[in-house]
Parts: sequence; structure tokens; C-alpha cells
Amino acid sequence: MNKKDFIDKLFITNNSKETKKLGKSLARVLKKGDLVCLYGDLGSGKTTFVQGLAEGLGIKQKIISPTFIIIKNYESPLRSALQNFEGQARVMNFYHIDLYRVENEKDLESLGIEEILNDSENIVVIEWAENLKEFLPKKRIDLKFAYESENKRKITFALSL
Ligand code: ADP
Ligand code: MG
Repeated sequence: MNKKDFIDKLFITNNSKETKKLGKSLARVLKKGDLVCLYGDLGSGKTTFVQGLAEGLGIKQKIISPTFIIIKNYESPLRSALQNFEGQARVMNFYHIDLYRVENEKDLESLGIEEILNDSENIVVIEWAENLKEFLPKKRIDLKFAYESENKRKITFALSL
């Protein structure tokens, strides 16, 4: 799969395992510097998706919802496409951000989100990314989550590269 294979694709998942698997398959095509923005109501599966994505990046720590912490940073021992020319594995940063409780510009500035987004060593995933408003970068992968029924979720991808 290539990143472009996700453009305007719609996925239906029938349980959280399938949503994690989808996150894992997106992780395989991500490169450092990529930004993934997640939109959708509480319980629509955003954090579940991030758990699979982090697993795909080789992160062993448990991914918890960062709603109250807002920003969680993990080190990913990612190899593919990130090796330096001595062939050593690079360690890159994975940021999981949740903006559910962050609405105003002052909060965004004090969190240092712009610096995180401007660092091309980072892979960043943001839940409630609509709260970034004018800080939302143009180059990003958008994913919309919708609750269909107790275990069914609709996940739509859009890419602005
Ligand atoms: P959000 O981060 O969008 O608020 P979470 O991922 O934290 O959502 O919660 C989703 C909840 O729905 C979890 O309890 C999960 O087990 C459950 N769930 C049931 N079916 C699915 C599915 N198909 N995809 C994702 N989560 C699901
Ligand atoms: Mg969440």
C-alpha cells in the first residue's frame, strides 16, 4: 500500500481490532514529518486507531488517551526510510495530541504545538484537530470517524499533500 491508496477511501470496521489494524496499515506508509488529523465524536474510535498506528511504528508502550495530558510523546525505533547512511536505525518522535479541551489560541501557543508540527523529525497524530483552526497545516492526512452502531465505525480518509 502507498499513501495515495488511502485518498478518499472509506473503511467500515466491525470491531476495535479492525480499527487498530487500519491504523497499523497507515503507519506502514507514514514518513517522518507527516501529520495525521483525526475528527469525530467521543467514542468514534480515534484513540483506538492511534493504538494500532503506534504499534505499526514499533512503539511498545501502551497508548492511552491523552485528553487530560493533551500531548504524549513516544520514541519510535522506526527503520524503513529512516536509516542514516551508516545503516543505523534512527529514533524518531511520535506525538499523540488530543485537543478536545483546547479551544483558544493562547492554549495552543503555550502547548508549543507549532514547534512540534514544524519539526520534520516528528510524526504527529492529533485528535480533535479542528480545534487547531488557523494553525492547521495545509499538508496533512485527514481522517473522519463516524459511529454507525455499537461496534461499527465508518472511517473516511482525505489527503492534502
Ligand atoms: P475516541 O478516541 O474517538 O473518543 P476511543 O477509541 O477512545 O474513541 O473509543 C472507542 C470505543 O468504542 C472503545 O471503547 C472501543 O472498544 C469501542 N469500539 C467498538 N467498536 C469499535 C470499532 N469498530 N472501532 C473502534 N472502536 C470501537
Ligand atoms: Mg480519544
